[in-house]
Amino acid sequence: LTIFKMEEMTWRELDQLDRERTLFLLPLGPMEEHGPHLPLGTDPLAAEIMAERAAQLADQAVSSINIVLLPRLYAGYSEGAMHFCGTLSVGLTTLRNLVHDLCSSIARHGFTRILLVNHHMELAHIKVLLQAAEDTMKRHPVRIVEASSAIFFTDGVNGGVEKEAWGQEEIHADVRETSLMLYRYPELVKGGYQHLPPVRINIAEQLSQGHIYYEEMGAQEGYMGSPAQASSELGQRHLETGAGAIAQLVLKLIRNEDICQIGSRMKYVLKHYAK
Ligand SMILES: [Zn+2]
Repeated sequence: LTIFKMEEMTWRELDQLDRERTLFLLPLGPMEEHGPHLPLGTDPLAAEIMAERAAQLADQAVSSINIVLLPRLYAGYSEGAMHFCGTLSVGLTTLRNLVHDLCSSIARHGFTRILLVNHHMELAHIKVLLQAAEDTMKRHPVRIVEASSAIFFTDGVNGGVEKEAWGQEEIHADVRETSLMLYRYPELVKGGYQHLPPVRINIAEQLSQGHIYYEEMGAQEGYMGSPAQASSELGQRHLETGAGAIAQLVLKLIRNEDICQIGSRMKYVLKHYAK
């Protein structure tokens, strides 16, 4: 397996790759507030970290496969955090068209497999990524999988992530994201994170009450969870777990195996609560 960075390749180098044995990884997420302690670029940075590590892990498992890494895309629908300065939300129609257009272009060059490595779990955002993938697959002979829903919203049928010990209340700028950033970009984590009190929010309850803004859910500082518990060691563990699950999807795509994109319960949730 060879890992290429698309932005550093020439068109001839890309053109030489076997269309049936090449997979594109597109890391993406919005520029978005991440509490008083993490940078606005946390989601796209985290997506890129995950994609790079997943490529390495897949590399150890198969040979004669090419992975083309796209640079991180700062694009996502982030209405929930819009009350906080610095959040840049891409509208749903624009996002759907943008992801469709990028994937279609890849498909028009004859490539057949794309994995969207998304690191933003807002329901409407996920819904639109899935729609963009569907739109593209209707028009071109390409297979596109959105990794986050295939890992988290299918009850593990893809062999995804085991239920993590820290539970359901780690949601945003939480122990996981803070740990991941401490592991890979420690210079970007503000020193006071160890003193942030935990913010416990039942996200399912909030969504069922029609709340979509982080502030109205009770996240006054823009984080939900317990970032004070974060550590570089936890970050490395979180990275290995997440990237391992993404690498499994890479291998399944390459081997043309079935992948459950989204479970029936989440399909229902997206249909009724994603707006
Ligand atoms: Zn995030």
